Amino acid sequence: MSRFFSQKYNHLEAYTPGEQPKDMQYVKLNTNESPFPPSEKALKYAAQAAERLQLYCDPDCTVLTREFCKLYGLEKDEVLFTNGSDDALNFAFMAFCDDDHPAAFPDITYGFYPVFAALNRVPYTEIPLKEDFTINVDDYCGINKTVFIANPNAPTGIPLSLSDIEKILKTNPDNVVIVDEAYVDFGTDSAVGLIHTYDNLLVTQTFSKSRSLAGGRLGMAMGNRSLIQDLNTIKYSTNPYNVNSMTQAAGVGTILDDDYAKKNCATIAENRAYLTAELEKLGFVHTPSTANFVFAKHPELDGGGLYAALKERGVLIRHFTKERIKDYNRITVGTKEQIDILLKTIREIMEETA
Ligand code: PMP
Repeated sequence: MSRFFSQKYNHLEAYTPGEQPKDMQYVKLNTNESPFPPSEKALKYAAQAAERLQLYCDPDCTVLTREFCKLYGLEKDEVLFTNGSDDALNFAFMAFCDDDHPAAFPDITYGFYPVFAALNRVPYTEIPLKEDFTINVDDYCGINKTVFIANPNAPTGIPLSLSDIEKILKTNPDNVVIVDEAYVDFGTDSAVGLIHTYDNLLVTQTFSKSRSLAGGRLGMAMGNRSLIQDLNTIKYSTNPYNVNSMTQAAGVGTILDDDYAKKNCATIAENRAYLTAELEKLGFVHTPSTANFVFAKHPELDGGGLYAALKERGVLIRHFTKERIKDYNRITVGTKEQIDILLKTIREIMEETA
């Protein structure tokens, strides 16, 4: 830290993103990216947009918003596009949290929430998940805090029903409830259809996972007009050009090729079933995931040890050091070929340690 670093931020412990190592070619199952390339239309549109990079991008994402709203049945002022959904989540912490509206989220969830809270000097409560890593909905009813729920949750992949989300919305009418649906497309019911019923519901989603655009950085927030207007105030006070023109174009191509994303999601769901069944045969236990990752532990293998042994052999998965989940690893559901390499490598490690 330099002696010039503002006191506003010198308490910050920054978020640590998943590793993106360049030392060798890994079977990369650590950051929940899609194993499938972007849609061909996305690539074509992005290449066309590259020819006009001397110009600023459209701060309103007009074409992208129009095409997206057609697909989702929304009005244009009910959605805001952002630089990945992390950007939208940070905007939500900025816009809807303060001393009178402190944040609340589970103790085991997306690790960026406490960092955004600290960045924006927002007080927050981490509410313990139940022993089986599910949410006790009553903990959130009438809590009078700005609630952040990842649905399905990360890193467990466990979903929450829409009726439970509605209970939280109804009992916190003076606070915004943010439902982070980064992994919703792999088999969880979306709350987007509820934004016209609840004026305190904000839903965030991303093109990073189901739509194969993690490197393009495209996310969105959906909610009623006034919530989106508030987020726009934050966006236009920080970086109006937060979604670059190639990414906007890639987003349009992706939306126009929605069947491609749907087909990939169906393949991931099949591969998830295959991966979990094979892990079970090897003695692993896992949470019931509806995401594009599996959260698993083995009674005889140390979580960190397995992660390190796999990395040494060229397979990357994600291990978290937090006490409650340190026995587990989060494994992204890849292609069948990637999964077979993972399983073969785990078998080798198990034979060596037996
Ligand atoms: N929410 C959750 C639960 C996530 O795991 C991630 C991915 N790290 C994000 C949001 C943000 O993803 P992105 O910024 O790529 O849209």
